Amino acid sequence: MDCDKCGADAVTHLAYSGLHLCGDCFSQSVEKRVRRRVREDGLLDQSATPDDPDTWVVGLSGGKDSVVLTKVLHDTFESDPRVELVGLTIHEGIEGYRDESVDACVELAADLDLRHELVTYEEEFGVRMDDVAADDPEGMAPCAYCGVFRRDLLERYADDLGADKLLTGHNLDDEAQTALMNFLEGDPKQVAKHFDASLGGFDDEGRETQDTFVPRAKPLRDVPEKEVALYAHLNDLPAHITECPHASEAYRGEIQQLLLKLEENHPGTRHSIMAGYEQLAEAAADSLRGGADDLDECDRCGAPTDNDVCRKCYLVEAVGGDPE
Ligand code: SF4
Ligand code: ZN
Ligand code: ZN
Repeated sequence: MDCDKCGADAVTHLAYSGLHLCGDCFSQSVEKRVRRRVREDGLLDQSATPDDPDTWVVGLSGGKDSVVLTKVLHDTFESDPRVELVGLTIHEGIEGYRDESVDACVELAADLDLRHELVTYEEEFGVRMDDVAADDPEGMAPCAYCGVFRRDLLERYADDLGADKLLTGHNLDDEAQTALMNFLEGDPKQVAKHFDASLGGFDDEGRETQDTFVPRAKPLRDVPEKEVALYAHLNDLPAHITECPHASEAYRGEIQQLLLKLEENHPGTRHSIMAGYEQLAEAAADSLRGGADDLDECDRCGAPTDNDVCRKCYLVEAVGGDPE
């Protein structure tokens, strides 16, 4: 098959758009989608100047998504002094898994001459995920602890690094899966929370986040997972692909299979889910806004919470660590 843009040999067929693309045209199409998302989300603060640039902290795990996001943003803004990119890597303490992906992050940061910060659960909380998974004092899946700890560190360090935006590498499949899972839970707060994709919204407990956290963005959310992987491969990026040994989101796995099947039979399903869902999330966020109770501060860390101790501090203490 020939590339529909330039006639060279095609390397891929995008069923949802009908296009066959060669490697170069495919890479350009990925880059274009990321740039359009950055533009449409109004990510670059118009008051940013070379002397006072917008600082974007990218959650860099070393997996293909965050590596591709970092590379595309770097190439896009390399010659624009109004944006300063910083890579932030969280080491959870997972033997044989995170060490290798941290190597990928270090390699990428060196290649791109990017500022890179590494934060570990062990230094921050005095725990490693391998021990948490083995002890499991709350009887939960490892990811249920890990997600809370990671989000806390990303937000806290983004803030410490003076971030204006916190960017993560969620792709179209991740987003469509989360949308469907939130919808199936039947809780409007869960739906509203998704609105944070467009810079402003709700945290995991359905509270407004605008004033309390660094705004989030997901510029890769229009690019399907397979295309992110192909981009990383074609552009020879140092992405780490093994799966975490504690990966345990069984429900997400079911949703993933369901969506892949739907996409195969009805190309474009993921895109249409997200098109409708973002509007739904915004409407849900609007209707919940103002209804949130006043928040107290966590006794341990001062984070906003409606309990005496926030979820993160509660879990860190439960696994025998030190939240402060
Ligand atoms: Fe943590 Fe789960 Fe991700 Fe492993 S798969 S790094 S346990 S959130
Ligand atoms: Zn082409
Ligand atoms: Zn706390």
